[in-house]
Amino acid sequence: MRSSDIRKKFIDYFVSKDHLHLPSASLVPSDDPTLLFTTAGMVPFKPYFLGQGIPPKRRITTVQKCFRTTDIERVGITPRHLTFLEMLGNFSFGDYFKREAIGFAYEFLTKELGIPISKLWISVYEEDDEAYDIWNKEIGIPKERIVRLGKEDNFWGPPGPTGPCGPCSEIYYDFGPKSKDEEDCKPGDPCDRFMEIWNLVFMAYYMDEEGKLSPLPQKNIDTGMGLERITTVVEGVSNVFETDLFVPIIEEIRKIVKDSDSVTERLISDHIRGITFLMGDGVVPTNEGRGYVLRRLIRRSLRRAYKHGIVKPFLYKLVPIVVDIMKDAYPDLIEKKDYIQKVLIKEEDQFLRTLEQGLSLLEDYFRKAPSKTVGGEFAFKLYDTYGFPIELTKEIAEEEGFVVDVDGFNKYMEEQREKARASMEAKLEESFISLSDDEVYLMKSLPKSEFVGYEVLESESKVL
Ligand code: ATP
Ligand code: MG
Ligand code: MG
Ligand code: MG
Repeated sequence: MRSSDIRKKFIDYFVSKDHLHLPSASLVPSDDPTLLFTTAGMVPFKPYFLGQGIPPKRRITTVQKCFRTTDIERVGITPRHLTFLEMLGNFSFGDYFKREAIGFAYEFLTKELGIPISKLWISVYEEDDEAYDIWNKEIGIPKERIVRLGKEDNFWGPPGPTGPCGPCSEIYYDFGPKSKDEEDCKPGDPCDRFMEIWNLVFMAYYMDEEGKLSPLPQKNIDTGMGLERITTVVEGVSNVFETDLFVPIIEEIRKIVKDSDSVTERLISDHIRGITFLMGDGVVPTNEGRGYVLRRLIRRSLRRAYKHGIVKPFLYKLVPIVVDIMKDAYPDLIEKKDYIQKVLIKEEDQFLRTLEQGLSLLEDYFRKAPSKTVGGEFAFKLYDTYGFPIELTKEIAEEEGFVVDVDGFNKYMEEQREKARASMEAKLEESFISLSDDEVYLMKSLPKSEFVGYEVLESESKVL
């Protein structure tokens, strides 16, 4: 069974349980200015959970494209974290609740996919006796394999500053202990023995700006299972990068970057999927918001390969491979391929022109610096003149044992934005003279975008 079979089996199973199958929504949330990207399968359904708007059916199932900036630092380091991922989900809007959601998940994993029961561990929210009892007494999972975890792991959401949320129950796959240390570890501990594969969220609350919870008008179910993780389990490999979703990409990277290492290969293979899908959904490289995240993926990958002597654009060559792997599930990529490659090669070329100079300046700085801090003004120069996203400067600095004065950097950034805003407004005033009323209205109603680059790291779902 390959990843494409799992997608199909999942949808078929939930359709047989009376769910409506809807296509994936865009990675760019429509109608939701509080979210940078679609970070989970439930995002397109936020209004239905809140009781605002009526879903086409009370049971829905999807395979949703997702993008998470919060996990970017872990990509290539852990066996299971990606930026771009596909989430398999089943949703109930005021229809079934805990018992059925748990029953479906258990049946799908053990009967449809044939995963041995003994390999599954469960976590529930510490106060959720109901979910605990369903797993233990009704499904028959022994107490030794059920853990109670706190808010950090087992209270999900909201996605963004406010929204629906609730206690959850996570299903983990046990790879078995690989060392003495791993013998006693449990889901939720910092060890790689367990991989979380599926999260069942019992979405019953709304969280407001102050973090206060109030019950939703109806009880809902939101589940999410990472396709790459469940494929890892089904294909019997040890991490997401060894699945059929990644192997051809990594093989091509090895041909290009001859003496690469596993972190480099994994990072680039993840980022090129993110780049392809973000551009496919209309994001272009810019200095702000979504475009800035895309730019970071590109520049981070280029700098990695540069360390291995790659000084020419190469990412664009990986796009056809991503398209080939994904085209059956996302046929729109076929016609977007040429466009994506064109924009990408241009962006690659532009950054590679200044990368070498920027890096040598930075090395010089490390050698001469009186302390282990990279000043804000210098970090800003690297950004402004050489195109180094601040996060990239931070990463390189950390490798050399330096920290970056990010507050200082932000001050220069803000000054530059102020200047740009003033000159833009002046230009707008001039041009209004020759515009029609409608055009003036349109321009004035355009939202003012804000620099979100640095904060984006802190929360995957920051207000734009
Ligand atoms: P983890 O604890 O491993 O970081 P999570 O609890 O943050 O995962 P959820 O928000 O519950 O993840 O997302 C639902 C499911 O999506 C997870 O059970 C997992 O299968 C998948 N998933 C989440 N984050 C990632 C990621 N960065 N890369 C790949 N799959 C992911
Ligand atoms: Mg996580
Ligand atoms: Mg988790
Ligand atoms: Mg989870």
